[in-house]
Amino acid sequence: MAGGSFLLADGLVNDGDAKSGVFYWKVRRGDRSRAPAPTNSFNVRFMPTYRAPLADIRFVLEDLLDVGQLATLPGYADATPDVLVAVIEEAAKLCEDVLAPLNQPGDAEGCHYEQGAVRTPRGFRDAYSAFIQGGWPAMVATPDFGGQGLPKISHVVLDELLCASNLSFSMYPLLGHGAVGALERWGDDELKRRFLPRLVDGSWAGTMCLTEPHAGTDLGMIRTRAVPAGDGAYLVTGTKIFISAGEHDLTDNIIHLVLARLPDAPPGTKGISLFLVPKRLPTDEGTAGSPNGVTCGSIEHKMGIRANATCVMNFENARGWLVSEPHKGMRAMFTMMNGARLGVGMQGLGLAEVSYQNAVAYTRERLQGRSARGPAMPNAEADPIIVHPDVRRMLMTMKAHVEGMRALTYWVGTLIDVEERHPDAGRREEAADLVALMTPVIKAFCTDLGFEMANLALQCFGGHGYIREYGMEQFVRDARIAQIYEGTNGVQAMDLLGRKVPEGDGRLVRRFVAIVERDLAAAAELPTLVPIVERVRDAVERLERVTGTTLARAAKNPDEIGAVAAEYLRLFGLVAVGWMWTRMAQIGESKAGSAGVAASKRSTAEFFVTKLLPETQSLAARIDAGAAPVMALDATAF
Ligand SMILES: Cc1cc2nc3c(=O)[nH]c(=O)nc-3n(C[C@H](O)[C@H](O)[C@H](O)COP(=O)(O)OP(=O)(O)OC[C@H]3O[C@@H](n4cnc5c(N)ncnc54)[C@H](O)[C@@H]3O)c2cc1C
Repeated sequence: MAGGSFLLADGLVNDGDAKSGVFYWKVRRGDRSRAPAPTNSFNVRFMPTYRAPLADIRFVLEDLLDVGQLATLPGYADATPDVLVAVIEEAAKLCEDVLAPLNQPGDAEGCHYEQGAVRTPRGFRDAYSAFIQGGWPAMVATPDFGGQGLPKISHVVLDELLCASNLSFSMYPLLGHGAVGALERWGDDELKRRFLPRLVDGSWAGTMCLTEPHAGTDLGMIRTRAVPAGDGAYLVTGTKIFISAGEHDLTDNIIHLVLARLPDAPPGTKGISLFLVPKRLPTDEGTAGSPNGVTCGSIEHKMGIRANATCVMNFENARGWLVSEPHKGMRAMFTMMNGARLGVGMQGLGLAEVSYQNAVAYTRERLQGRSARGPAMPNAEADPIIVHPDVRRMLMTMKAHVEGMRALTYWVGTLIDVEERHPDAGRREEAADLVALMTPVIKAFCTDLGFEMANLALQCFGGHGYIREYGMEQFVRDARIAQIYEGTNGVQAMDLLGRKVPEGDGRLVRRFVAIVERDLAAAAELPTLVPIVERVRDAVERLERVTGTTLARAAKNPDEIGAVAAEYLRLFGLVAVGWMWTRMAQIGESKAGSAGVAASKRSTAEFFVTKLLPETQSLAARIDAGAAPVMALDATAF
């Protein structure tokens, strides 16, 4: 570091570059509250912060998606845009003021394991209390069990805010939310009565227990067993690993949804059943009750999300109850997994957003070099690095991907509401097809970008990005897991190309392309948008062409799908976001001269289609190369 480190007052350290005049204040012994407030633009303290991007969120909800239409769906009459925005603004306060300040300390402290008990980092218990007192776990759950019944899109937005402010924290309620969805859909009346009210209000948490030491992607190999207890319950025995939030001190009960095999189970995934296994057996009065045969064997020491406990869970004759039918557990678990996959996609968006925000703040303040056009700040020793085109390239890449992802993910969020509530069966089916098609895209495309954008933001900090207290390396570490869990991104790609694309003889893709083409035609009526529309149209045609040629090759060689699926999913994601950018540019044009975020949409759209969308050309070339170059070498040659 050029400027060295200066002790300025008791505990205060200037760790910045004295020559350039940029000072990054920090406080020894961890007491950051004593750091001085900024005095001028050359004297700032830097620590990662988070502000919910409310203006862009409103743009997407109101201008792009016309979210007011959701209020016309049965049961959503009260969910007007004003109500949704007010709710989101409240969530923003919690995320900015309570959760974001715990993100770095939580990472530094991690979780503590002692004799089966797990303690979350300092501050997490209070934050969780604030979270449930605010009613956030109940936001979109059914009012029949204490939920507030808001549209699902509001939870998609909440997810973005939670993940951006504190990914580790967000995963404690995320699993409970998933368990509520699975029980609402597949639980019998008795299970709903006993467990939903406490899961909905957040006083009990949830988990999903799939993975075993020898069975990760291939769940057909799981060995956990369930035998009838003779009274309608089952006794579950086995070991699960990598269970997020498997044990913690935030709630007095944890409800595990566990995949296991019944004695007469056929082999493979067709023989898997789903069981609800509580940590404690609830009393008739609804309190947590006595311990069940569930223990936490250890927690993992890991690269990121260190404040979220990743647990080995041992089940020994633990009492549980069947959810849905025997041997149909994967179908029920997929309700939870599909929701969780969209939730993990939001982790990518959230981390990309918070990384981008901090990169913008830093590049505005860090003084290095001069603008190629001549000094931008002649009275200073150097210009802020935001003047340099290469830094702009990084910022624009982040901005275009972040806002594009937000538009795409929120669109899918509104489709979930249409799928569940629209009175017209045709509209419900169309929405269901599009959600199914987009789920692997959202999961994998957004989490790949989450990691890439966090890494790009770190690059904007130069060497400071590599230093822990600036916070950027934590975002990179935290973002990495989202590409792996909930089905690796490679598995998502095969789900897209191997299952969703061929489904119904291409019905899902045809539906998607029809909507895109309709919107492109509408945008092309504005002459100024024609260059943008043409580039997106080219990319759509490219997608359609490689879809046809790849499926034709796959009919002859089964390796073709796996060999190009990752490239195909990336291409799909870029096309989908290109479509969103066309629509956003169209709104930007119609609001030309406005002061809000709409004003920047047109030029960001141009950046996306000229600098990022061309990646579809190289992706198409790589897809066309097929499986042969990938599979040519014998396995012994590596
Ligand atoms: C921090 C963390 C939290 C987690 N939380 C949970 C949780 O809450 N609940 C839970 O049940 N699990 C959880 N997991 C487990 C996670 O879902 C698995 O790690 C993931 O599904 C991959 O399984 P695996 O690790 O066994 O890898 P493997 O299945 O061994 O895969 C290794 C590699 O091979 C590839 N691969 C495997 N099979 C195929 C195939 N057929 N075709 C092509 N490629 C293939 C994969 O894509 C991957 O790149 C968590 C894991 C971590 C690290």
